[in-house]
Amino acid sequence: MRIWMIASEMAPLSKTGGLGDVVGALPGALAGLGCEVTAVIPHLPSMTAKRFGLVPTGTVVEARIDGAVRRATVLEATAVGGVRVLCLECPGYFDREALYGTPFGDYPDNAQRFAFFSYAAIEAARVLAPGPDVVHTHDWQTGLVPLLLRDAEHYGSDPFLGEAATVHTIHNLAYQGVFPKEVLPTLGLSWRHFRMHGLEFFDQVNFLKAGLTSADAITTVSPTYAGEIQTPASGWGLDGVLRERAGQGALHGILNGIDLHAWDPALDAALPAVFTAKSLARRPRNTEALRGEFGLPPDGRPVVGLVTRLAAQKGIDLLLGLGDGIEALGAQWTLLGNGDHHYEEAARSLAARFPDTVGALIGFDERVARLVYGGSDFFCMPSLFEPCGLGQLIAQRYGSLPIVRRTGGLADTVRDVSEPKGTGFLFDEASPEALGEAVERAVEFAASPRRMEQARRAGMGRDFSWSASAREYLRVYRDGGSPPA
Ligand code: ADP
Repeated sequence: MRIWMIASEMAPLSKTGGLGDVVGALPGALAGLGCEVTAVIPHLPSMTAKRFGLVPTGTVVEARIDGAVRRATVLEATAVGGVRVLCLECPGYFDREALYGTPFGDYPDNAQRFAFFSYAAIEAARVLAPGPDVVHTHDWQTGLVPLLLRDAEHYGSDPFLGEAATVHTIHNLAYQGVFPKEVLPTLGLSWRHFRMHGLEFFDQVNFLKAGLTSADAITTVSPTYAGEIQTPASGWGLDGVLRERAGQGALHGILNGIDLHAWDPALDAALPAVFTAKSLARRPRNTEALRGEFGLPPDGRPVVGLVTRLAAQKGIDLLLGLGDGIEALGAQWTLLGNGDHHYEEAARSLAARFPDTVGALIGFDERVARLVYGGSDFFCMPSLFEPCGLGQLIAQRYGSLPIVRRTGGLADTVRDVSEPKGTGFLFDEASPEALGEAVERAVEFAASPRRMEQARRAGMGRDFSWSASAREYLRVYRDGGSPPA
């Protein structure tokens, strides 16, 4: 089966969050099942030719955006095992400091940037990897691709493309790519699409909705989230569309995995002491290094780590709401995160107020993230909602016990220590008090080294590999749905 995987990010070439991890791992897992996968992503300044073996393909593609013809040069990454990766160099659009925006907001021309990328990605793959059986796209950034493939004025009548099945994955329904309707003509799209069963959304243009109403099948990243997004409370205005598609048998919840090679505490070069479930005695060296990294004094208290986007979704307000009470919980905290400016400031000031208890590093740092996973005793994700969440999976693999709200993928992947083979701590209410109680429960639990070790081993022994999920994707590719009428 020939698959095009079109997305805005792909680890290790580029990553701002879980989307990058998934697109970095799923293609390899599919290749392992015999699929031929070509991934297409934007080229970013951080993708050095040396590290990823980027070579020119000689192909240049173009699309008309905002009245002007723009070009993208197609590079191929040769240093990514098993999967063909095409990186599109789009001058003016992706040679920027960040992929989506700054701590003060999104780039104002994101509609044009990602529309251009969508056209250019189809063109590049058409030239270099013709005849796909399946085109798999991800999140709002590539939501226009299924629409363009279906639309007779674009690729709908192309004999080599019109037949391809399209699958669109929702990694986070809260981000939809909503823009004023005036952008529509600048994107080369007809007003025909501006309708309820197209990309119209409360009189605006919605890129994600274009994907949801055009793709043959829709997937999302956990079974619980697949149910939640069909409710008005968690549907962000698209629950009606999703219920309709689910009624047609076209919506599937498939749990994310993690790349077990990329995330392996036995081999991780970022850890001062690598370890396995059998050599947990080595792990405290990482905890010491973690404290040092975050400027915390050596201490008998257990360490709670966070590695997170600083966004309301992640429950940062619950953490900040602990206020002065954070000291009394009996833990030390290491927070690595970046995102909204006001949360970055609040995290810095929490650390300044409690220098022996809270350490905060603001930024996106892969090495420090690994140290948090491999050194913290507990890993905190108090998310208000969580489509799947990868942090808690990585934490379990690295022997850190998750403290999580019972929502979305967190509910699907963390088992409370009050149950047999439990690996973490779940709480229900979205309040600082409920988070505080869960942390207290964890700190009490840590008083028993034997139980800690047992729970760490249980987490490290769980199977979060991609192999089962990749098979489910294959099933969806073969028989996952058909376009809406
Ligand atoms: P989301 O995609 O909503 O941000 P996930 O839990 O699905 O959340 O995935 C987050 C991924 O991004 C994980 O691999 C996590 O380690 C990584 N990550 C998040 N924030 C940072 C950061 N500040 N520095 C390094 N890695 C980070």
